[in-house]
Amino acid sequence: MTERKHPVLYLAIPCYNEEEALPVTAEKLLEKFGQLTERGSISEKSRIVFIDDGSKDGTWQVIAKLHEQDPVFRGIRLSRNCGHQRALLAGLMTLRNECDAVISMDADLQDDINAIDGMVEQYCDGCEIVYGVRKDRATDTAFKRSTAQGYYKVMRAMGVDMVYNHADYRLMSRRALEELSGYEEVNLFLRGMVPMLGFRTGEVYYSRAARMQGESKYPLRKMLAFAFEGITSLSVKPIRMITFLGFFIFLVTLGMLLYVLIRHFLGYTVVGWTFLAVSVWGIGGLQLLGIGIVGEYIGKIYLETKHRPRYHIEKYLK
Ligand code: UDP
Ligand code: MG
Repeated sequence: MTERKHPVLYLAIPCYNEEEALPVTAEKLLEKFGQLTERGSISEKSRIVFIDDGSKDGTWQVIAKLHEQDPVFRGIRLSRNCGHQRALLAGLMTLRNECDAVISMDADLQDDINAIDGMVEQYCDGCEIVYGVRKDRATDTAFKRSTAQGYYKVMRAMGVDMVYNHADYRLMSRRALEELSGYEEVNLFLRGMVPMLGFRTGEVYYSRAARMQGESKYPLRKMLAFAFEGITSLSVKPIRMITFLGFFIFLVTLGMLLYVLIRHFLGYTVVGWTFLAVSVWGIGGLQLLGIGIVGEYIGKIYLETKHRPRYHIEKYLK
């Protein structure tokens, strides 16, 4: 490894149907790279790598053309759409042996690319991981903002260590990536996994812009699925909560039994129909919920035991 100055920096950028955004993104990043190399902050061997996550539009053609025009651009094409997290991991794992550090970011440049300077600086100061953290969420809708904030709170309560307001914009050193490669789970939630690595970390603050081209590839449905994935991949607390709930209900039932017996001996046998019906539905519902959550974890175990590859790379233009 070269010393911690002048690192060979790779950018890993997952792209799904981003043909509109890519040319703008590429131009801006090229300019940024120009500044950084000129100043000697990064090596001329640094590269910008787009990972095409099985796009259905002309994204790959755009990447191939960029690569032809300027070898600073590279492209990795996955054989099909595997989702943002896997595409990102494919990039990180493919590139980790070629460079000193990788910065992962989104193709739409919502995350301020000027934060790269600070990330590289902190890397040179010895940080293995540098998190990009949003200063505010002014450009998000009120809905996205409040759901996101609630989510961080829930995750914290579930015992998952996450960096507040940090998405997947971060620098990871070769060392950190090597350690990450030991995490073999197929249920991926990178922003919850990376803090588990430890090491010396840093943070760079930036404000997030609105998406310029194209539309969000994360509709509410995908967002909810992703949030749920985060909880069930990293925490067993929900199962424990069900156990407590079950125990609590058992206690209540004991009390109820006593109550029912007393009523019986006092002769009020018909009273309590409504109560009974509500109890049956209530307990039934809770049981189904419990089974569902336990099932969710069993599903995860099932997927993990298969040890299937998490992505397939079709081509690597380098
Ligand atoms: N993305 C991907 N595969 C997918 C969905 C999204 O690689 O199946 C990429 C997308 O191209 C973008 C990044 O993941 O670079 C984040 O997506 P987006 O900006 O749409 O999400 P948002 O910022 O709205 O959360
Ligand atoms: Mg975005």
